Formats: sequence, C-alpha cells, structure tokens
Amino acid sequence: MAQNDYDLFLVGGGPGGYTAAIRAAQLGMKTGLIERDRLGGVCLNWGCIPTKALLKSAELVQSLKRANEHGITFDNLQVDFGQIIKRSRGVADRVAKGVEFLMKKNSISWFHGTGRLLGGGRVELSGGNRETVSARHIVIATGARARSIPGVTIDRKRVITSMEAMTLERRPASMIIIGAGAIGIEFAYFYNALGTQVTVVEMLPTILPVEDRELTKELERSLKKQGIEILTDTRVEKVTPSANTVSVTVVSQGTTKELDAELVLVAVGVQGNVEGFGLETAGVVVERDRIKVDTHYRTSAAGVYAIGDVIGPPWLAHVAAAEGIHCVESIAEKNPEPIDYLSIPGCTYCKPQIASVGLTEEKALERGHELKIGRFPFRPLGKAVAVGESEGQVKLIFDAKYGELLGAHILGGDATEMIAELVVAKRLETTGKDLYHAVHAHPTLSEAVMEAAAAAYGEAINI
Ligand code: NAD
Repeated sequence: MAQNDYDLFLVGGGPGGYTAAIRAAQLGMKTGLIERDRLGGVCLNWGCIPTKALLKSAELVQSLKRANEHGITFDNLQVDFGQIIKRSRGVADRVAKGVEFLMKKNSISWFHGTGRLLGGGRVELSGGNRETVSARHIVIATGARARSIPGVTIDRKRVITSMEAMTLERRPASMIIIGAGAIGIEFAYFYNALGTQVTVVEMLPTILPVEDRELTKELERSLKKQGIEILTDTRVEKVTPSANTVSVTVVSQGTTKELDAELVLVAVGVQGNVEGFGLETAGVVVERDRIKVDTHYRTSAAGVYAIGDVIGPPWLAHVAAAEGIHCVESIAEKNPEPIDYLSIPGCTYCKPQIASVGLTEEKALERGHELKIGRFPFRPLGKAVAVGESEGQVKLIFDAKYGELLGAHILGGDATEMIAELVVAKRLETTGKDLYHAVHAHPTLSEAVMEAAAAAYGEAINI
C-alpha cells in the first residue's frame, strides 16, 4: 500500500473520530486521521472534561463554605478564579495528550489541519500538510458547534458561548444564561457557586426538558435555593450589548421584561459542522445541518460514513464513541448489534447531579405503557446523611405487566456514577424484582436503587 493510501481515514479527532480510529487499528486497518484543532475534539478540550474540572472547583468552594458543620473552620477563604480556569485548561491538556499517546500506540497517522473531501475516496489535507490521501473508507466525525437564536449575534465578548465561559479572565458579577439544557445548567451551577449573580432563561416549562419532569422540578427548587434565578416559559426577544453590560428582552405570558447583566451565555443547543469541507463534492447528503446516515452510519456516498454530533442527536460524547465503534466494526464485517438509543445514559453535573437512562414517566405514558413506579429519596439513607448528600431521589419506571425496567432517573450526589448499574440493568432487560433482590452494599448511596425497586412493589424497608 502506498504511503498515502489508507484502509480508513477519519476527518475529525473528537471522541467519535479517535475512538473509531483506535478500533480500526485494532482490527488491522491502516488508519489515518486529520484534526484541525486538538485531538479529543470539543469534549476533551472545550466541553465535558474542562467543565468537569471547573465544576469540581465549584463543589469544593461550596463544601469549604460548609466545613464548619464538620468542626473545621478557617479565616479568610480566598477563591482565585484565574487558578480555577488554569487548572481546568491543564486538565484538558493532560487528557488531550493522552489521546496523542493512544494514536502513537496504535500506529495511527494523525495530521494537524483541515481535511477536504475531493470525491472518489480522496481527502485533501491542508494546514502544513498539503497532500492528498486516498482511503477505501472515509469516516466524517466533524462534530458540532454552538448555535444561536435568530437575531442574537455571538460577539464572544458580551455575548458568549460555553467556549468563552470556560476561559474567562475574570469572574463576571452577573450572567444571564439563555437555555436550561446541560450546558446552561452546568454553567449556572458553576458561576453561582463562585458568587456570580446568575439568571437562567428557558423557553420551555422546565429546566433540562429531556429529563423526567418530577426530578427536574426538584432540581429547579434546589438550584433556586442555592441562589440561581430561573425563568421558565420565558422567551428571549432581543439581546443588546453595550460597552459594559448587555440587556436581554424577554417575554413571559405576554409580559415583556428587560434583564441586565455583565455577560450573556447562549446555550440553546448545537448545529453540525457540515460546511466547507467538500461534502457536496463527495455527494454526501446533508439535511438541516446533519449528515444523513443509515443504521450502519453509511452516508449517501459510497465509502463515506459519518458518526457523532454531525449526524444529529443525542449529541453526547459516549454516543459518538459507540457509533464510531459500530461503524468501523460494520466496515470490517463484524456484524455489530445496532446501538440501542433507548439505553443511552444522560448526565448533568450540577449539584445535585441528575442522571437517567431510558424513558421518562411522561414518555412512557405517551407510548401507552402501563406503569409501576418506585421512588426512594436519599434522605432516610444512612450513607446519604453521613456524607451530607441527602437531597434528591431515585425514580424507577417499570412496565406494570412484565416488570421490565423502562426508565431510571436519579437526582442526587453521585447520580452520574450511580446510573451505570441501571444502564446495564436496562440493557439486560432486568425486572424490578431482579433489581430489588440484587443485594446492594450498605452503607452506600446505591441502596436507594434497590429500595426504589422495592418501593415499586410496596416493599421498601427504610422509609
Ligand atoms: P440543549 O439542547 O441540551 O439545551 C438547550 C436549551 O435551550 C433547551 O432547554 C431549549 O428549550 C432552550 N432554548 C432554545 N432556544 C431558546 C430560546 N430562544 N430562549 C430560551 N431557551 C431556549 O443544548 P445545550 O445545553 O446547549 O447543549 C448542547 C448539547 O451538548 C446537548 O445535546 C447536550 O446534551 C450536550 N451536552 C451534554 C452535557 C452532558 O452530558 N453533561 C454537557 C454539555 C452539553
């Protein structure tokens, strides 16, 4: 094989692209990849990972403020915002370097620059490389970027996206966040915990609209108690930046109101990166800024595939990685099982955290299921009280007839870690009885899962 010929070449090195590259290399394919920013994509560099570092700092500040409950006191707590940002960037750098190492370990050639599809299995590499490679299979994993709302210009100074919000030089005194999805809520928690006056504006009736309504209502109460102003059922009409502030015109139930803040963070979702790299030339069909694919991630052009955020929701790193593995295994004729999109966990890392898998109560009812629901709050659990994590609950939704787990929802301290057992349970079509009879360690927060399953049968013990 000539040096510039590949079995598989990827455009985009985020969690979708780099995971697919490694799987391809494992399967013996000569694999290449081009990335215009840094390996790891938005997730590792500008999303999941650096924000988790920021959120950890915010949690630490909150914990230190309550240290006196443990008899620990100190004078003069100082928070160095610059150091919090610096640590977060350092974390992103470290993790991204880890991906570089993985590329090397798996003998994957990676190029820094922009890939452009020329059709006929060829990709032109720009950015110092200026060469053309050919590949039997090309996988597009170019991801997505923040979108805005009509009439709102993101100037990246007063009106910013999450990317600026995670690298600000100074903590703003006030911030209006448009959109109460995962990004909006995580940044609301972070900045509020550090002392910024935060207002969240959401056009739908609840925050985190994809989550179970009962739990999001409870989360909303908790975040309000922490000091975040949350305006639901509120539409943004206009955003007007001036030299030192920015004003946002909002409408709620026919009433117009002006809000002012130092900064506005726009977090109203994402759009696929589909422009400017030759998709039309290669004959790849794009619909509403998403590449159209079949169940094996084949696009309309022979030999061209697409995975991850660029093919549409759910826009999650773990979905992109799973799609990458499936796509490559399908190319290698390994006959992989289709991804079960109903068993994908969703996690939001504010405090308390919220995590879920499967159907919400509302969606399960819409689909005509008869339900058996078990709930268990953390409040009565010994471990929850001991570690000061007694907010929230586990809510499990079973099919009334067969007891199959349809959905699991957790609001609480370690919700994003605890959801894993329910992902496995759902994938294995576990019933409520199975969950209930699987003995959970005491004392742990996960006892609430066992108790919620028991509660569905009226047999919870500790309440
Ligand atoms: P999102 O789609 O999750 O949420 C956007 C929110 O903005 C929605 O609630 C929507 O109703 C609201 N909205 C839209 N237009 C509005 C308007 N004009 N006025 C007021 N509200 C409006 O998008 P996001 O939070 O920007 O996140 C982008 C993607 O990244 C999502 O798919 C998200 O799941 C993913 N993400 C995931 C995590 C995580 O897993 N922890 C973290 C960050 C981002």
